[in-house]
Amino acid sequence: MPLVHMNDMLNHAYRHGYAVGAFAVVSLDFLEGIMDAAEESRSPVILNLTESHFDYYDFDLLAPAVLAAAKRAQVPVAVHLDHGKSPDSAERAIQAGCSGIMVDASHLPFDQNLQFTRQTAALAHACGVAVEGELGYVAGGKGENAEKHGGELAYTSPAEAKAFVDRTEVDCLAVSVGTVHGRMAGSVKLDFARLGKINETLAIPLVIHGGSGLADDQYRKLIAHGVAKINCYTALSDVAVKVIRENAATSGYMALNRGVRSAVRQEVERCIRLWGGSGRAAEVLAQCQVPKEVDHLILYDTPADLSDESLAVMVRRGKDKLRAIPGVRHIFPGKALQNEGRYQHCWLVRFTSQAVAEHYRSHPAYGEFFDKLLRPSAKDLAVFNFEERD
Ligand SMILES: [Zn+2]
Repeated sequence: MPLVHMNDMLNHAYRHGYAVGAFAVVSLDFLEGIMDAAEESRSPVILNLTESHFDYYDFDLLAPAVLAAAKRAQVPVAVHLDHGKSPDSAERAIQAGCSGIMVDASHLPFDQNLQFTRQTAALAHACGVAVEGELGYVAGGKGENAEKHGGELAYTSPAEAKAFVDRTEVDCLAVSVGTVHGRMAGSVKLDFARLGKINETLAIPLVIHGGSGLADDQYRKLIAHGVAKINCYTALSDVAVKVIRENAATSGYMALNRGVRSAVRQEVERCIRLWGGSGRAAEVLAQCQVPKEVDHLILYDTPADLSDESLAVMVRRGKDKLRAIPGVRHIFPGKALQNEGRYQHCWLVRFTSQAVAEHYRSHPAYGEFFDKLLRPSAKDLAVFNFEERD
């Protein structure tokens, strides 16, 4: 049940002066370690699925596990597409059930970043999904991070950030104030004056990427300057690698990975404590919308002169049309098991949230499905929307 709208969660953190950890999930060990820590700390948590990691795991296999962990949790959880690279990946994440997406376009010139982010934000908002943009560029430190986030660090300009947020309507903004993805060689200097100005100008939750390895006091100052979401992967990767190295003399895959879950849990607990999320779960849950799936049910009969072949064509084309609507999660064209009585056919279409149920009718693909394909092949149409009872 506690998969919640990410925007509500971040607004709570922003108003109450703490930051929610957004921890990257790359395996079930990571997922379970992060959730153990959040439950133990009674803290809200964000589970990040990071697109640059998709060459390591299959999103379509891991995302359902992450969603299942969120739905059975006792603490509020948001599932977030991190560094989404294209409108297609945003749609895929929304369809999978993510409650937040990040648009990764900060490497592009300002106007292109703005346009891409605005389009994706409109799509996500129509599905009730929160959107994180990025302005300025958080580069990679070294090793795999340098490869994945090439190029030079570019600081966020407060004036540009204002124009960007006003025009894209993003819910939170990742800013560049001196951190890097991964670890920086030597100590990190953060531009708090810049961050303070951005916070004053925008007054929305700010996000830090490259949040591993800062000093405790730096985290506190970031949060005091409006940071309400801190991304973390490298610190978890480091503790997991350390455990695996210590297990190197053992034989067997499971023996090698023994202890990874508990090391991840300890590091996540440390972050949650430091960033102020401990004990916040109940008050966050009380203030968050919980997205509910909606079932769109169409019952119909066919005219006597409609051939089986024509019906099959309508069903095939109809599926293609419905698939094009963002937030459509599952499509089930059905036929009755009994051969007599009213309503021998149906479409059961599952939407990811109530927000989709409010907007699907205005999508051109739905008009084409309903008016051009279904209506000419049907008689006695009945249409209903259902949401799950509490
Ligand atoms: Zn990042």
